[in-house]
Amino acid sequence: MNAGWMGVYGAVWGSFAVLVGVRIPQGQSMVRPPSHCDGCGRALNWHELIPVLSWVLVRGRCRTCGARIPFWYPAIELGAGLAFALAWVQWHWGWGFWLAVWASGVLAALSAADLRYHRLPDLLVWSGVVGVAAVRLFYRPLPWWSYLVATLAGMGLLALLRVASRGGMGLGDVKLFAMIGLLTGLSGMLLTLILASVMGSLAGLAAATTGRLAPDHRIPFGPAVAVAAMGVYLYATPWIGRYWGIH
Ligand SMILES: [Zn+2]
Repeated sequence: MNAGWMGVYGAVWGSFAVLVGVRIPQGQSMVRPPSHCDGCGRALNWHELIPVLSWVLVRGRCRTCGARIPFWYPAIELGAGLAFALAWVQWHWGWGFWLAVWASGVLAALSAADLRYHRLPDLLVWSGVVGVAAVRLFYRPLPWWSYLVATLAGMGLLALLRVASRGGMGLGDVKLFAMIGLLTGLSGMLLTLILASVMGSLAGLAAATTGRLAPDHRIPFGPAVAVAAMGVYLYATPWIGRYWGIH
């Protein structure tokens, strides 16, 4: 096994996660109907289902009807591939790696659901919280209180932001930070919140200037949190612990 192959497995995992994120909110099964174009309903061939590559080859459009395939499909697949490769380099088959697998899958599915429907399905958020909590019962590079305080403080901070933004931030984002706290610990959670806010603001600014802001003017915060949290989990948490001596 090497990091390159892990990247390929990660992209396939990300592709499955996108399917889950797009289908769960509609109550659809994971296997039926088979993957199809949302524009014309045509079932996709095997060579149209290769993560990242297929999207690049058809230049983001259905070959039959020309319907646009959102750029975030390959972006999420690429992100999951990168997460797998980086986690493998750092932990090989250790628990840190399996935590990255679970977190990247849940966060990829949540990002897809948020981008598509502007909501974070409870089933996905709680799968993330329960899965990460279960591993944290016995695998903790940081002291146990760091994860506990991070979870409570994260949900508290997001609840405050939700009130301050008058509901511009969803309840799903508040629950999501229970998972982020358990994943990254206290300083990692704060760093995730800062990075995600910067990314969310930049995305909002870009959407406003290009006139592509959603009708309800809500910026999907979920994908920004997903990218920031995985970045912090894979890199910054050990860095913060080592150089700042805080957790
Ligand atoms: Zn089509």
